[in-house]
Amino acid sequence: MRNIQKTALILIGLSLFNFQLFAQKVIEPKDTPAEWSKPYKPFRIAGNLYYVGTYDLACYLITTDKGNILINTGLANSYAIISSNIKQLGFKVSDIKILLTTQAHYDHLGAMADFQQLTHASVMMDKEDVTVAIDGGSSDYALGGKEPSYKPVKTNRLLSDGDLISLGNMKLKMLHHPGHTKGSCSYIFEVKDKNKAYKVLIANMPSIVTDKKFSEIPAYPKIEEDYRSTLQKMKSLSFDIWLSSHASQFDLHKKHQENAAYNPEAFVDRKGYDEALNKLSADFSKKIKQK
Ligand SMILES: [Zn+2]
Repeated sequence: MRNIQKTALILIGLSLFNFQLFAQKVIEPKDTPAEWSKPYKPFRIAGNLYYVGTYDLACYLITTDKGNILINTGLANSYAIISSNIKQLGFKVSDIKILLTTQAHYDHLGAMADFQQLTHASVMMDKEDVTVAIDGGSSDYALGGKEPSYKPVKTNRLLSDGDLISLGNMKLKMLHHPGHTKGSCSYIFEVKDKNKAYKVLIANMPSIVTDKKFSEIPAYPKIEEDYRSTLQKMKSLSFDIWLSSHASQFDLHKKHQENAAYNPEAFVDRKGYDEALNKLSADFSKKIKQK
């Protein structure tokens, strides 16, 4: 009897939790830059790696013989743009088997729940971002609030630093790069075309989100330590091609013109990466001196 009561209570509790989760209205910030929602022509970056995002919200499709991987999903309204981009390239949205993100913010997870529902793909996420993703960002240390800013995302597989994500002939390594969010991360992997193999880094650049002093964020006590180690780890990475969460962060529009021919070499840019990291290191140094 006792056990039955207990089970009943747990079930009621769970259904209330689910009810709350899905009954809550999603309020995505409205004042976002126009480039975030602007459609952009998809293209092949290198080998089996494609750009399928909006003008600025970078989303990547990696195709394999066993289905495809989508990294990042933009805002809620990016769903239609990304889907149409995937189809334009001759691929099927329903072939997406794995969904990944570089960080649990509404401009990268906005359409994730819709993609998950439609494709039944497995969502794999840095384990430190899992709790914030399930409440649609409301518990985010910097951007959180009462309402979720994106539809809650359930994670199917928790990822830790260095974990491998395998599908068909592809193997991606997840690199834990916290700070921007607690579970921000990058991916490193190899793609090949008929001439060459490229080591690709999709980097989550550790920009600072909060206006508060790092010492005044009880929800994230090790924020300073995390940014410091992320910057350090990122400086020592080696790769051929550098990409990131926003097109503007790696100067996509200087490197690639719409309708330009296939040219992976355009994204070989160690210098740009080092400069971007140096600027972020300077921001970090300024931040820790904040009074
Ligand atoms: Zn962000």
